[in-house]
Amino acid sequence: MNYPIIDLKKEYASIKPDIDKAITSVISETAFVGGKFVEEFEDEIKNFTGASYAIGLNSGTDALYLSLWAAGIGPGDEVITTPFTFFATAEVIAHIGATPVFIDIDPDTFNIDASQIEQAITKNTKAILPVHLYGYAANMTEIISIAQSYNLFVLEDACQAIGAYHDSAHVGLLGNAGTLSFYPSKNLGAYGDGGMVITNDEKLAREIRRLRNHGQTKKYFPEKIGVSSRLDGIQAAILSAKLKHLPEWTAKRIQTATWYDELLNNQDGIKLPAYQITDRKNHVYHQYTLRVLDGMRDKLQKHLENHRIGTMIYYPQNLHQTKAFETVNFVKHTTSESEKASLEVLSLPMHPFLERSDVENIVGIINDCLN
Ligand SMILES: *Cc1c(COP(=O)(O)O)cnc(C)c1O
Repeated sequence: MNYPIIDLKKEYASIKPDIDKAITSVISETAFVGGKFVEEFEDEIKNFTGASYAIGLNSGTDALYLSLWAAGIGPGDEVITTPFTFFATAEVIAHIGATPVFIDIDPDTFNIDASQIEQAITKNTKAILPVHLYGYAANMTEIISIAQSYNLFVLEDACQAIGAYHDSAHVGLLGNAGTLSFYPSKNLGAYGDGGMVITNDEKLAREIRRLRNHGQTKKYFPEKIGVSSRLDGIQAAILSAKLKHLPEWTAKRIQTATWYDELLNNQDGIKLPAYQITDRKNHVYHQYTLRVLDGMRDKLQKHLENHRIGTMIYYPQNLHQTKAFETVNFVKHTTSESEKASLEVLSLPMHPFLERSDVENIVGIINDCLN
């Protein structure tokens, strides 16, 4: 047995002719940075998500950064977010000179606890930055309602959640803008770095487009100081080829999660995720993450590793606990659920190329350790 947490080799093997053709066509056309393939992929993402605008960038991190920048957020401003996420979410808030304000998570979904946002708002609060962690949307209904009352910008970190819906709208389009990451291990992964902002706000889209290309709208006539953050043609062409398969791959992830749910249902010592899934709100299972109780998490992880089953801890530290934030300004409210989650979570193998028998084998090894 050997079950890596994701299996990009199997994925490539399943679509090799399409990928190879995509790469060759970019080389033949020498459309390496920006250009035709990027524009086509941006249009495909607009169709896929329903966004009016899609701006290809060099990473999900830059998508977050340029969105905050384009929204005019900066020094003195506070941005309310979750401490239970990938580092980039809060890193960009610090980069832009603003202050991250960490509040607790909802223990059922691992997402920002929307009911704790209002008490964290001050006269300096400018934005809310929810993360749709593991591929399940945060409580956007409540977040949008608070944002409207206090006139706050909402940036959705949808880097793990392409294909996820809340109230029948694609994530990223409920607030002012949303970010996608095409990091290779994401549900739609490139063969290198890539990211995108999706939005329905024309002015914001125009500003992000200008910032990504040295503040230029016309080549060699920069209008403001920007950065270089563009999507490569080769990555865009690969992503176009893969996007065609995303609905089927997402369905397979959901199926795999159902198998885990069913086969782990009676296992003592763990707590399965408790998501509310309806016909208006799905889960795209970027990760299948459970809690291991009674301090057994690291032992179970070791046991699985000994049986060549890949797992990960997303995330072993809360962001305010990282060394990076020792010397950086932040505000922290109660974060006890978030800190508890860091000690309990374990993500199991999850990708579109697992069969029921694979999940049975993995669950069997979990049973051995915990029973
Ligand atoms: C991957 C990820 C990012 C950053 O995306 P990159 O493309 O790796 O820069 C940001 N936020 C979350 C939640 C992510 O999972």
